[in-house]
Amino acid sequence: MSLTEDVPKPKKLTGGCLCDSLKYEVTFPEGHDFDKHSGTCQCNQCRKGTSSLFYIYVGASYANFSWTTGTGSLKFYFCVPENERAFCSSCGSWIFWHTKGSATMSIALGTVDSLYLWGEGADGVSVPRGGFGRVLAGGNKKTHEFCENEIPGVTDEESISNILGHLNGSRFQTTVDA
Ligand SMILES: [Zn+2]
Ligand SMILES: [Zn+2]
Repeated sequence: MSLTEDVPKPKKLTGGCLCDSLKYEVTFPEGHDFDKHSGTCQCNQCRKGTSSLFYIYVGASYANFSWTTGTGSLKFYFCVPENERAFCSSCGSWIFWHTKGSATMSIALGTVDSLYLWGEGADGVSVPRGGFGRVLAGGNKKTHEFCENEIPGVTDEESISNILGHLNGSRFQTTVDA
């Protein structure tokens, strides 16, 4: 059973970049499998792209994502031609990763607004007091990609479990059996 099976799931999220030039809204259909579509990536591109040890994302339908501000500061970076990384050229926040033509996208979890992520100002009805962070970031089916680039003693399996608790799950692209 999934860790997040019986807890409330968001029907929508809002988020944005650090300087508030870019804000977005994304909706989720009933039954959206957050466990299946969320994950982390430790590839060298995502590591440098986030300036952090790994990228944590929540998957969504590309058609359900929309900007709620102008997009004057929106830029795209292409490590490889088919994969676009959307970011704010004013403050540098990386918002999402998307393969051109794909129906799905990976939204950088750190850009999700505090209301949804950890419950700042939550009413306890439409948004739980603790937010949806655990749903968005957790679950037994969570996948960890490009684990061959994990940092021994820092982001490998045991360390992730010890430091981040719930971020267990299936690890892929690792030299050690997942
Ligand atoms: Zn910005
Ligand atoms: Zn990656």
